[in-house]
Amino acid sequence: MVSEELLLRLNDSEYKNWLKAGRCLLILKSGLHPFTSQHMRCFHKDLLTHSPLLGRPCETNACRGNKLSWACRACSEWKTAILAHQRQPNRTVHWENCSPPSWRTDFWEVAKAYMPGGQGKVKGADQCDASALLNLINSCDCFQTVDPKFVREVIQYRNELMHSCELRIKDEWIRRYQKTLKHFVRQFSHVPQMAKVGQEIDEMLTVDLSLSVSGLDQLDSVDSDGLVCDSEATVDLISQWEAELLQEKLQELLHTDNEDADTRDTEQLKMLGGFLQANRDLGERFSAELQAIDSLQARK
Ligand SMILES: [Zn+2]
Repeated sequence: MVSEELLLRLNDSEYKNWLKAGRCLLILKSGLHPFTSQHMRCFHKDLLTHSPLLGRPCETNACRGNKLSWACRACSEWKTAILAHQRQPNRTVHWENCSPPSWRTDFWEVAKAYMPGGQGKVKGADQCDASALLNLINSCDCFQTVDPKFVREVIQYRNELMHSCELRIKDEWIRRYQKTLKHFVRQFSHVPQMAKVGQEIDEMLTVDLSLSVSGLDQLDSVDSDGLVCDSEATVDLISQWEAELLQEKLQELLHTDNEDADTRDTEQLKMLGGFLQANRDLGERFSAELQAIDSLQARK
């Protein structure tokens, strides 16, 4: 059984565009995981080989990313090394992402210094979203083989997509997006895990999700239990991507690392809350998040 609301959403071409574009980011992420992980591992090893001072353990075991002005000599050495390998010298470093005593032994703790904020609890590439991995590639000079122009373009598309209040995307946007993704992926032709990514992205952007549900053009005859679908597994899968994307968007909007409520995008939260409420199936799935949105709005 497929919920009527999901069928209506899959019958809305601009919402489908939003869903498909978001799905492409998840595909991209799956290819970038092993690539970024492997590169950071080598980068970390190189740093240790070339600067023996970095091999010394933290002197206090209490150095913290958010209080680096008090760091011991070993952690200060790491801080200098991390800054020396920035691709964008003026970028703000989110030191609070990192646990400095682990820099010596954990390459991902080093990677997190090159990422946007909110990565404190993340332990590896597989737990990162596409945005975090793209920012890492854009910010650390061990990824110099990747042209930053295309990385930034993909980041910009990703932000437009995730910050779209309406969750709807025009066909023209999709065409430009597809072109940019193509340019980006082409740079990884030597990376085995990325070989499939370009193909999967093209397939995703050309597939018509509504065709995978039978009886879509006969919505008038839907019985009260919903439709019987000839490919329930496909619909389940689509519904799973949708939930994953909405989860990412909700997390970003509700993100509480930053206690400053003024920086929160209340307009977007309001629209997203309204959307979840209007779609009963999603409202039930994200009931906890809806409550969080309500209580934030009540505080205003
Ligand atoms: Zn230290």
